[in-house]
Amino acid sequence: MKNKVLPLEISGVNVPAGKRKKVEIPIAQLFDTTKMSIPVEIVRGKESGPILFVSAAIHGDEINGVEVVKRLLASKRINSRMKGTLIAVPIVNSYGFNRNSRYLPDRRDLNRCFPGSVNGSLGSQIANTFMTEVVEKSTHGIDLHTGAIHRTNLPQIRAFLDDDETSRLAQAFGVPVLINSNIRDGSLRQSALDKGIPILLYEGGEALRYEEKVINTALYGILSVMEAIGMIRTKERKRRKRTKEVHTARSSAWIRAPYSGSLRVQSKLGSLVNKGEVLGVISNPYGSDKAEVTSTKTGIVIGMTLLPLVNKGDAMFHIAMFSDSEAVEERLEFFDEILEEQYEER
Ligand SMILES: [Zn+2]
Repeated sequence: MKNKVLPLEISGVNVPAGKRKKVEIPIAQLFDTTKMSIPVEIVRGKESGPILFVSAAIHGDEINGVEVVKRLLASKRINSRMKGTLIAVPIVNSYGFNRNSRYLPDRRDLNRCFPGSVNGSLGSQIANTFMTEVVEKSTHGIDLHTGAIHRTNLPQIRAFLDDDETSRLAQAFGVPVLINSNIRDGSLRQSALDKGIPILLYEGGEALRYEEKVINTALYGILSVMEAIGMIRTKERKRRKRTKEVHTARSSAWIRAPYSGSLRVQSKLGSLVNKGEVLGVISNPYGSDKAEVTSTKTGIVIGMTLLPLVNKGDAMFHIAMFSDSEAVEERLEFFDEILEEQYEER
């Protein structure tokens, strides 16, 4: 016998089983009375199952995720034959999104305002609305991010991997690199976790860009998670190809600029660097006073600056350390091939 599908109401709108609806969750309007909202599209299967939210642009300028959600909603696999419900939230921070900005109008970071409160700051109120209308109605979550402005990240999952269900989701997502993280930072991830809702944070690419590889990696990751939690059927062909070999970093560290100047990068995302290896060269505007920047760690480059001008102390390269970094580098190369195949198959 099929399990009865429980009612689901978001922002006062009832979404029956087997139906698809767009809902605008109202948030504070602009000075000129322009209405603002968190746009949400809900897709409910006819059968009961997990309720997965996928959110993007909590940092308004991290727009790769917006495109990921758009393509996810366009996927043929997202339909009433699903078990359970997808709550797709392409833009959490509409204020920042409309201004190409990471922040809220009062310069707060929305992802530091969780879980929020009814009478707090604008960010705190939006966080509270998002928690009550979306997160607390879900059983699982995926939050999509990119590097900050002028920084790029290797596609990676950050999650609290000590939790069994979170770890299972992270493995299922299938990106080669996982970062275990349990920071108490007022983020959506922390607040979801505190409510017992397993959540993945996907990081990939840079702010204010659409990057095909980053978008496709996220899209296939989300669909793989939906397979793993039984929302959609596993594609046989895909399962064979997509070996779930993932590696969890033991720790990570930023290599900072030892001098101010202009930086010529000699390393790339996903590459293995050894301790003492040259990552880049900093020189002054005359091209003299060249100084090599060497890695203080052996590991994989998982993030780096894209701005060629650095001040002393600026974070330049983010290196993650693994028990077997060579295996990670190999896996990353193989993963790129798999991704291309999957893209062609689509
Ligand atoms: Zn972010």
